Amino acid sequence: MILFENTRLLSFNPPAVSEPLDLAAWEPGEADGQGGRIAAIGKELGKRFPQATRVGYGGYLSPGLVCAHNHLYSALARGITTPIEPSKDFVQVLQHLWWRLDRAIDLPILRASALAGGAEALCAGVTSVVDHHASPSAIDGSLSVLKNAFEELGLRGILCYETTDRNGREGMKAGISENLRFAAEVDRSRSSSQAILVEAAIGAHAGFTLGQESMELLGDAVRSTKRGIHIHLAEDRFDPTESHSSHGKDLLTRLEEVRALNEKTIIAHGLWLSPEEVALMNERGAYLAHNARSNMNNAVGYNRLLHTHRKVVLGTDGIGCDMLEEFKFAVFRHRESQGPWWPGDFLACLDRGNRLLEAYFGGSFGRLQSGSAADLVHWDYDPPTPLEAGNIAGHLAFGLSSRSMRSVAVNGQLKVKDKKPLFDSEAIEAEARTQAARLWKTMEGIK
Ligand SMILES: [Zn+2]
Repeated sequence: MILFENTRLLSFNPPAVSEPLDLAAWEPGEADGQGGRIAAIGKELGKRFPQATRVGYGGYLSPGLVCAHNHLYSALARGITTPIEPSKDFVQVLQHLWWRLDRAIDLPILRASALAGGAEALCAGVTSVVDHHASPSAIDGSLSVLKNAFEELGLRGILCYETTDRNGREGMKAGISENLRFAAEVDRSRSSSQAILVEAAIGAHAGFTLGQESMELLGDAVRSTKRGIHIHLAEDRFDPTESHSSHGKDLLTRLEEVRALNEKTIIAHGLWLSPEEVALMNERGAYLAHNARSNMNNAVGYNRLLHTHRKVVLGTDGIGCDMLEEFKFAVFRHRESQGPWWPGDFLACLDRGNRLLEAYFGGSFGRLQSGSAADLVHWDYDPPTPLEAGNIAGHLAFGLSSRSMRSVAVNGQLKVKDKKPLFDSEAIEAEARTQAARLWKTMEGIK
């Protein structure tokens, strides 16, 4: 058991700040099925649980943060020096950079990339990452390599492989198979009553790289695995345009027709969806993963209908994994667009990543209460202004950042203590640099 003492509990939903309290959490395997959950909140818990390991005192304790859309395979692209042709639009960005990068990924590169990206997440107080993976030259088994990296670090996640037609029909079918294989692997872990850290979704690249047969196979996979599809839609104007010209219908209609829309659906970006498509997503309970920085970086525009979505979650889309930084960009870009939302609305989006975890894992996430998942961040935050329920979002937008992270626990296990990772971060970064050099070199030969 781990114990935080005399700390103010910082809740995001509903926003609340408590008086100084103690929080005790069961470690995995403890307490007859209660392992990994919050055991008790109150005063002087050290007396009630004398065997508990004292891991933090004072400051603030919040639920772990969730990154609801990421690509850990892109972690080794930072500062890339491989010559990349200038791109005049978003599709060229994919062709010149990302589709060359993902084809150069083999399993050692993937593993190094996942460990480096996952380590960065934990050190930013992010305890769960929803990942969307592509490695067309190494599809089979790739999700298990990712899963092993998540489990080694002790990071929670939902993984999928991005099915696409861009590497031919065999490549598409291999993508479907990898999603099905991995979902079955997760189901086997669940049935052996292990507390699992990693779940499966059904991955798909984007509307414009998926023909009718692929869409139908994805719909079948969603229903047979009882998972949700995780797909990019309408990131750029090209996607709905292609959908109308090639298929004569809206992107959401294509998913609806193959019965792929449900309460576990994750649609990334969605900048150019119509009001009718947003209404259908809301009706089906689909999540919209908003990635403010990525949209800005790719100059694809702004999601003017963001505030009309019922279930917005926040992701980084491969630009690191610092969710407090992402939160700030989401707020400021929205203010710049003169949209109707305030920081509190984005705090609700940040928290909503936990509802996504609940949809996939079951149980309770993002709540500081007994029985809820013990995914926790202890903050060294000493604010210069009062911090209370009504202004938590303001502190996140204008103050609190990942540099205030002190300790992080996932599933009741401490992963970072007093700013020091409890995994070998130096070895992870050194191996990542070696593999990044190899990745960049391999990319030179791919056009
Ligand atoms: Zn993405």
